[in-house]
Amino acid sequence: LTEQLRTVRGFRDILPEEASRWQRLEQVLRAILEAYGYREIRLPILELTEVFSRSIGEATDIVEKEMYTFADRNGDSLSLRPEGTAGCVRAALQSGLLHNQVQRLWYCGPMFRHERPQKGRYRQFNQIGAEAFGFDGPDIDAELILMNARMWRMLGLRDVRLQLNNIGTPQSRGAYRRQLVDYFSAHRAALDEDSLRRLERNPMRILDSKNPAMAGLIAQAPPIDDALDASSRGHFEELQAMLAANAVDFEINPRLVRGFDYYTNTVFEWVTTALGAQATVCAGGRYDGLVEYFGGRPTPAIGFAIGLERLLELMAFEGIGGAADGPQVYIACAGEGHLAEALRVAEALRDALPGLRIVTHCGGGSLKSQLRRADRCGAAAAIIIGEAELAAGSASLKSLRGDGGQRAVGLSKLAREVAQLLGGPGIEIGGESGTAPG
Ligand code: ATP
Ligand code: MG
Repeated sequence: LTEQLRTVRGFRDILPEEASRWQRLEQVLRAILEAYGYREIRLPILELTEVFSRSIGEATDIVEKEMYTFADRNGDSLSLRPEGTAGCVRAALQSGLLHNQVQRLWYCGPMFRHERPQKGRYRQFNQIGAEAFGFDGPDIDAELILMNARMWRMLGLRDVRLQLNNIGTPQSRGAYRRQLVDYFSAHRAALDEDSLRRLERNPMRILDSKNPAMAGLIAQAPPIDDALDASSRGHFEELQAMLAANAVDFEINPRLVRGFDYYTNTVFEWVTTALGAQATVCAGGRYDGLVEYFGGRPTPAIGFAIGLERLLELMAFEGIGGAADGPQVYIACAGEGHLAEALRVAEALRDALPGLRIVTHCGGGSLKSQLRRADRCGAAAAIIIGEAELAAGSASLKSLRGDGGQRAVGLSKLAREVAQLLGGPGIEIGGESGTAPG
């Protein structure tokens, strides 16, 4: 393909082999979200730019330099969504979902940020996220974290650890902000360009820097805990007790902050050592001020977002969820005269064994070449439709794994025999293979 027609930098195709891993991952995560009473909300990919600039904050990486923003044909400023929370709050308010009620919502889909592409960092990437509105206690914080822990468990992940912090309220952060400005001003010469810019506008964001050269300075920065107000401190202690009571390990990272202005109180990240600098697979926290900031009534809220590309990269690294869902049964046709019959047998099998993955050979060719294809696609069984078999009301069922035996089976018994053949160890019928660890 010529250079002019290739994908845009930082955008990727997900090819079929990989897509089946995506489907399995999404299926596991969706099932868990639903099992906790979270309901899906599907949101537009494009919003008025104001939705993001107002909620995420002007002095953030996203709004300052990462958004895909353009003028619509009628002059409105629109942006591709860089994250899901702002649109979710916008939709919940617009549709009255927050009116005298609590909400547990989840979303899934592509997000867009103009960042430097590298492993684990793309310009179009996918998130699954959850948002809970109307709950102000630490119990919902703990529930979200327990839900994450269950996700990692169900996927069979080992290398993910929870980091936890509490960043208090905007009021209580005033004093801390000044401490940070003092500290980083005293080390001005060591600050990189981004940090210098943040020093005046948003000093807490310096703590969020990804530049390894800044790590030493950040590690010595004043921690937030001394500055916390009593209510945030109490919330934080209760959350820790709930996590401990549920055997969730965590590490307090007093310099963990989020890139968004709207976070308050609880913040957390699930990090791995396996993905280099792109270590965070899931990030979340409270944003108690955002709904009001959007013009709604004060509504406490908390959510998280999982980076699906990073999660898949971690799963690949840990060697889990790898096997593709190829066909299980391949139907071959000896002779051109029976194509309609082959399709009919396939349809009857699909009726009898819903979810069974059956491929009917289309396009003719010798039986030998058809069986070669059956073998190559990884199917466990082939069914051969031929003159003699049909005359006797049967088809040949051939095992493609193990003994490779072949025998005639009456069409009325075919579904049962196929199920039995596939039911052997390690073979499952249907696409509901669930977590497929290992
Ligand atoms: P980072 O610090 O890595 O830039 P972030 O703080 O910008 O992440 P959030 O906005 O909190 O990330 O998004 C939540 C999750 O989405 C991240 O933890 C990560 O897993 C994923 N994510 C964010 N940006 C990207 C990207 N450009 N490409 C792939 N995944 C991403
Ligand atoms: Mg980022």
